[in-house]
Amino acid sequence: MNYSIALLRGDGIGPEIVDSAVRVLEKVGEKFGHNFSFTPYLIGGAAIDATGAPLPQETVDGCKNSDSVLLGSVGGPKWDNLPGDKRPEKALLGIRSALGLFTNLRPAKLYPALAEACPLKESVAENGFDIMIVRELTGGIYFGDRGYREGKYGKEAYDTECYSRMEIERIARVAFETARKRSKKVASVDKANVLETSRLWRKVMHEIAEEYPDVELRDVLVDNAAMQLVRNPAQFDVIVTSNMFGDILSDEASQITGSIGMLPSASLNETTVGMYEPIHGSAPDIAGKGIANPIATILSAAMMLRYSFSLSEEADCIEKAVDSVLNDGLRTSDIAAIGAPSLSTDEMTDAVIARL
Ligand code: NAD
Repeated sequence: MNYSIALLRGDGIGPEIVDSAVRVLEKVGEKFGHNFSFTPYLIGGAAIDATGAPLPQETVDGCKNSDSVLLGSVGGPKWDNLPGDKRPEKALLGIRSALGLFTNLRPAKLYPALAEACPLKESVAENGFDIMIVRELTGGIYFGDRGYREGKYGKEAYDTECYSRMEIERIARVAFETARKRSKKVASVDKANVLETSRLWRKVMHEIAEEYPDVELRDVLVDNAAMQLVRNPAQFDVIVTSNMFGDILSDEASQITGSIGMLPSASLNETTVGMYEPIHGSAPDIAGKGIANPIATILSAAMMLRYSFSLSEEADCIEKAVDSVLNDGLRTSDIAAIGAPSLSTDEMTDAVIARL
């Protein structure tokens, strides 16, 4: 099979880690008889430098015309003082919206080999955890009406949260379908004791749950969810939640794995064109040093194979190669014990490729 992939390398360590994932995909293609073709497009600071805009139209068109998109990361101190709508990060909202990426899948998994990196108590960490956060990505307060107005105490700022039944239904279905492929448990996180949008969220979740009698649904208030994640993360499998709650909880979940350089993500729409990226940023402090951990991006490529191309065996192969690298004690500096030897980005990529 032939698959075309748009490469958005971006800034900082972005180009280094995307190139690692490309090498892994090429090897997978060779092993399983697929042809992956890669076309680079500009995004973020690199696009600002070359064209003056963080998300050139050519990039949007190129992504739309590809089978899938692999993104590194954007941003860095060089562009930090630009106005909000000219900043590299603006390109992320732009590309999500242009591709209609309403679902963000963020796995947070504690690898047994990295249990020591988990900041939670040993008695909690030793149970391990493997959570999939399903975050609604194109609605809610990040996209609602906002502005300034005259209020009771003078000028005030406001943002509004808005969710339609359709937006909740489609993310609910993604969550239930995802749970069916895992341990058939969904926790829907809301703030239904206060927010009207959450009350609709909860109602619709339960309606859609009736279509999935084999999946167990429970409601968790967001403040409780934040506590439970650090008290007993192993209780969760799939968590589905709104844009803002998902933003916060998925960062919390990633922190308790203790290794930001390990975590991939997928953003999906109704078609199979998804965008795949590591959850971390452009790490300007280590950019160009050749020491970035490429695993989050390599695992993002595995998610691409699974969710956009339905190549589960190939995705499993990458994930098993990563497990094997970790079990063999190989580490980049971000996940190595202090003073222990560590591999460069290229060496870690070679180690994964050798195990495919
Ligand atoms: P960051 O994730 O880039 O870095 C945080 C820390 O983690 C740094 O010490 C960094 O060296 C380390 N780190 C991150 N990824 C690593 C990897 N693969 N290997 C080894 N170490 C790694 O977060 P930040 O410093 O807050 O942000 C830097 C820039 O990235 C900012 O401009 C920010 O806006 C941008 N950013 C972009 C995205 C994105 O493109 N999706 C996401 C978050 C932040």
